[in-house]
Amino acid sequence: MDFEDYFNDVCKFTEKNSNKIKELGKGQHPEITVISCSDSRLSFPITKKLGKVFTIREMGGILNDSSIASIEYSALIGVKKFLFMGHTNCGAIKGALELVSDKETEEKKEIMKSKFLRTFMHDNIIKPLNLANRSNKEKEINKVVEDNSMLQIEKLLKESEMIRKKFENKEIDIEVCQYCTETGIIEFKRKFKN
Ligand SMILES: [Zn+2]
Repeated sequence: MDFEDYFNDVCKFTEKNSNKIKELGKGQHPEITVISCSDSRLSFPITKKLGKVFTIREMGGILNDSSIASIEYSALIGVKKFLFMGHTNCGAIKGALELVSDKETEEKKEIMKSKFLRTFMHDNIIKPLNLANRSNKEKEINKVVEDNSMLQIEKLLKESEMIRKKFENKEIDIEVCQYCTETGIIEFKRKFKN
């Protein structure tokens, strides 16, 4: 694969938006921060708003020290709206559900071979969301995706004193949405309240 050819459309986008890019070269003033999964299907709604969206993406939208630092930085440069974007059929959640299921799927076998994937799913999804002890109904993938978004917000407010204080003082808003990978539609779930 030739990367230059592969990103040819990006060059066209750059040409078309050269004035905007020049302006943004002076500094960024993002309006919102989106915390979402690394899933390739989620790129479109985010890249459309050049210079407006500060983006933090990790597998499953799981927060770690570095992503929390990124969220704090975005608050520092003026972001007041934070959007946690889960998505339907998230691979990280699906993998975690397979790990706790009795079925021996190929994917499960592959995950078990990777120390990093196995530990990541166990520590960040299976254990905190109590997946092993859930009823079948409570194991429905998109329900777990939504629960995971709420868990990440709780983690952020617990770990980050800066964000917690801003949230308690009503200086920032936190919202949850779910991107549907089958239709491209974003469903806004609710504002996060204390
Ligand atoms: Zn995902």
